[in-house]
Amino acid sequence: MIPEKLPQRIEQFKAGLARKGIKLTHQRLEIFREVTSSTEHPDVETVFRAVRERVPTVSLDTVYRTLWLLHDLGLVTAMGHPHGRVRFDANQQVHHHFVCTVCGLTRDFYCDAFDQLQIPDSVRSLGRIERAQVEVRGVCRRCADDPVTKSAPGAKKEAL
Ligand SMILES: [Zn+2]
Ligand SMILES: [Zn+2]
Repeated sequence: MIPEKLPQRIEQFKAGLARKGIKLTHQRLEIFREVTSSTEHPDVETVFRAVRERVPTVSLDTVYRTLWLLHDLGLVTAMGHPHGRVRFDANQQVHHHFVCTVCGLTRDFYCDAFDQLQIPDSVRSLGRIERAQVEVRGVCRRCADDPVTKSAPGAKKEAL
């Protein structure tokens, strides 16, 4: 996320909490700051490890609850499979993902053409459409340079 937008996002967070009658604690604010300023699409554990450096008393459970609270408030989206590791994405702009199939690195990218994709009728018949997000899969630069994974076939798309 663009750092200048952080104060604005914090205001949104405060307003959302106020609507639900929930207090903005120091811990909640730090968790929010962490996920909002990350471009890594972190999972609960990753947010926990980062926040713990600044707030040693924070618990994994608090991080977990706060991330799902942010999700309920519409401030982050959850990605991943229902039984896998859920990751959180605080980027609220329409965007798409590059996903490394080796290490799981997920980077946002923007593309007008992808934003304008027509949803096929066959998809519409499956249910109500909320948004379409393109996932480009490939091997990131770091993994491609790693001798162990170098031989792995993969699209050499730009790793952002
Ligand atoms: Zn990778
Ligand atoms: Zn994203």
